[in-house]
Amino acid sequence: MILILKPETSPDTTEYKQLEGHLSRLENIETHVHKVEGTEHTLTEIYLIGNTAALTLEDMRSLPGVDHVVRVSEEYRILGRHKEDTRPASFDYNGVRFSQDNLNVFAGLCAVDSPESVEGMMKALQENGQVCTRMGAYKPRTSPYSFQGHGKNCLPYVFELAGKYGIKVIAMEVTHESHLDEIQEALDQTGNSTGVMLQIGTRNTQNFELLKKVGRQQEFPVLLKRGFGITLDESLNAAEYLASGGNSNVVFGLRGMKTNIGDPHRNFVDFAHVSVVKRLTRMPVCIDPSHSVGARSRGPEGILDVMHVTSQGVIAGANMILVDFHPEPTKALVDGPQALLLEELPLFLEDVKIARQAYEKRVALFNSLSAN
Ligand code: PEP
Ligand code: MN
Repeated sequence: MILILKPETSPDTTEYKQLEGHLSRLENIETHVHKVEGTEHTLTEIYLIGNTAALTLEDMRSLPGVDHVVRVSEEYRILGRHKEDTRPASFDYNGVRFSQDNLNVFAGLCAVDSPESVEGMMKALQENGQVCTRMGAYKPRTSPYSFQGHGKNCLPYVFELAGKYGIKVIAMEVTHESHLDEIQEALDQTGNSTGVMLQIGTRNTQNFELLKKVGRQQEFPVLLKRGFGITLDESLNAAEYLASGGNSNVVFGLRGMKTNIGDPHRNFVDFAHVSVVKRLTRMPVCIDPSHSVGARSRGPEGILDVMHVTSQGVIAGANMILVDFHPEPTKALVDGPQALLLEELPLFLEDVKIARQAYEKRVALFNSLSAN
């Protein structure tokens, strides 16, 4: 059960102290306090864990400082959608809104290879009105002999260039807790000229110790990729690890499943789960068409498969797109074969707009039918 407190009920108020007194007298109930930073105020949620079946919603609602109460099912306690749950399905970070109701494009480099690639990419983004990107500094690779990413050495120029070209959020994978400090330090050194969304890659979806560490910090939002060989439920529970640590600013990323059934695509595209994740949880949903398809193959009409699957995810209501581009894909050190060209960025964005408008028209159509 979750008690959502009135915005003005901070821990130093009498109401809060009275509430604490009431809660401490409940038998077999433990409490966890969770702070949710909003743009206007900080909301306090108190999670009651234990024998909550013995409590009634009315009794809990009448306690001092309580605004409303949500009885949660066992599934995805914090991030899940529960009955009569009016908690928002959105959060703001560095001036960008992440929500189940909007769409952000994160076009960028799979891996940072040189300052020139970074600058070329960011310049193209600015010219096309984009304020978000993806840039990999720490790359988990199948072979230990492959390029592992430039790590912390590239962060200063990545962040400086981001500031120069007006980029507000960079999605960047972290594979070890020490990367959080490296990112924070480089951001501080470069005058916090941009923001970072920490990405947990598919190989680390169930790295529970990393999830706990990343969940315990509230500075950066998190993009959690679905595990490529586990069930959706297992991946959603991984997201819940982040939230239970204290950080519920989480976007859930679909990136395809590893199976030969998806051949010739690199992974079996799973964007049919966009609406499933939105129904089960309050997380905005990201799609990664690049790592799903893995190549620049085209349909007979000439449209790249990467763009086809992007449209499939967007027309189903996806909220974020993580997509690989590169100024010179043949020279890219990671995943060149799936990268789109900078010249293709305007086309890609226009195509995304068509699919998003179609999604919005579909929503309007279904709303008008249910209103009748
Ligand atoms: C990536 O986005 O660069 C990446 C490695 O993705 P995934 O973890 O989904 O393989
Ligand atoms: Mn990649």
